[in-house]
Amino acid sequence: MTANRSDAPLLLSRLAAIVGETAVVTDATAMSPYLGEPRDLYHGRALCVLKPRSARDVAEVLAICNETGTPVIPQGGNTGLVGGQTPDPSGSSIILSLERLNQIRAVDATADAMTVEAGVTLAQAQEAALSADRYFPLSLASEGTCTIGGNLATNAGGVHVLAYGSMRDLVLGVEVALADGRLLSALGALRKDNTGYDLTRLFVGSEGTLGVITAATLKLFPRPRSHAVAFLGLRDPAQALRLLNFVKGRAGPMLNAFEVASRVGLELVLRHISGTRDPLAQPHDWYALIELAGFADGEAERVAAETLAVALDAGLAQDATLAQSLDQAQALWKLRESMSEAQKREGGSIKHDVAVPVNEIPHFIEEAGRRLAAAFPQARPVPFGHMGDGNIHYNVSQPIGADKAEFLAHWAEVNAIVHGVVRELDGSISAEHGIGRLKRDLLRQTKDPVALDAMRAIKSALDPNGILNPGVLL
Ligand code: FAD
Ligand code: ZN
Repeated sequence: MTANRSDAPLLLSRLAAIVGETAVVTDATAMSPYLGEPRDLYHGRALCVLKPRSARDVAEVLAICNETGTPVIPQGGNTGLVGGQTPDPSGSSIILSLERLNQIRAVDATADAMTVEAGVTLAQAQEAALSADRYFPLSLASEGTCTIGGNLATNAGGVHVLAYGSMRDLVLGVEVALADGRLLSALGALRKDNTGYDLTRLFVGSEGTLGVITAATLKLFPRPRSHAVAFLGLRDPAQALRLLNFVKGRAGPMLNAFEVASRVGLELVLRHISGTRDPLAQPHDWYALIELAGFADGEAERVAAETLAVALDAGLAQDATLAQSLDQAQALWKLRESMSEAQKREGGSIKHDVAVPVNEIPHFIEEAGRRLAAAFPQARPVPFGHMGDGNIHYNVSQPIGADKAEFLAHWAEVNAIVHGVVRELDGSISAEHGIGRLKRDLLRQTKDPVALDAMRAIKSALDPNGILNPGVLL
């Protein structure tokens, strides 16, 4: 069963009967933003963009698509970085946008839980938690646009994984529309529930291939009342590793983020992002950004100041600055969060989102750099990322003045070099962005074949007609 193009008008009218005429978008200009993605690597076509308003409507849409064999591409904020939310060029699929499922259903500070719909943006979810004097810790540079459904479907990570884990650790339950049109409700604030398979987490990281998430119950945490953000100049990644272990020992669970970047990355930010400046007097080859959060007034600032002083004395950093205001803290974070955008403006960039055991990060960065320099002497590695989680965005910018397309044509060769080092260190080729279309073939080459078989068995049990995001992940 595959949707026949001549059946399209009938299909669209059946869908319109569920979601309403205005929620079926077929106008080319209105559809255009849904057909591309942030990195301009993928561009597709679709029959329409559907914008249902309720979980029930999502389920009914899936029932029709299942019956007619119509591929469905779930889409949240369209900030995904692996092409998982982009339709293929055939024009036979429908994009199912969750943007109108945007209700905060409940925030319960006493249960430390909130239930929100899939299209609520991450920033709105954070706000809802704060309004109940609670904290939702997931934090990504795309938080103003990405959605809770997308965060769950990609098991998003971000800068606070070190202290709170990734989205997988932050969810208590989900509501999911299944391919056959039934609604699975596993919402609820239970902290303990040993009644069989963990269906909630099955959908986390499933990238829209097992069901469409329509709502989720998320964990809330006490709201930190003091924050400290420091920016340190370092010699090399080995010093960063010593510093990380030292700060963990001094600050314990107050350590909220430990990010690193090289001088090359900082220079790109200073060149391309307006309003940024080098916070340290001298240039350093490497940098760390550290955030501490405390619960007593002034606690984070006090511990951070003491920790920095001892670290500098002990030669664990070359220089350091501690933000004295919220503005200064935001300016330091902006340096880190603008890394991707600055690289984009610099030209072509070949990406890697890899994880290795934290203690192997210095070796990984050195070895990947050495092998790349041998093969592509003019290319510029710009490694940065979540050192505290062993997750580095090992991006490689094009040689100065080179042709962008010519450089990007080497994507697979550069990947092979970097991922070769990752494999030798028992690392992961996708630490937080997922597989999507971009890394599907790579997954096949690197994942345990038995694990892949188990994943395919789950997929065919939940989506026997293969309508949910075909071509993504598996
Ligand atoms: P989309 O891009 O719309 O979709 C992503 C995937 O999820 C697709 O496969 C889609 O089909 C599926 N999907 C979306 N909604 C649903 C749903 N309701 N049900 C089922 N499947 C669904 N990611 C990180 O992990 N850490 C970072 O630090 C980080 N930083 C980023 C910074 C920038 C500037 C940008 C542009 C992206 C960044 N990302 C990061 C990637 C991205 O923001 C996350 O993957 C985010 O979780 C995607 O959410 P979204 O709503 O935009 O999903
Ligand atoms: Zn990241």
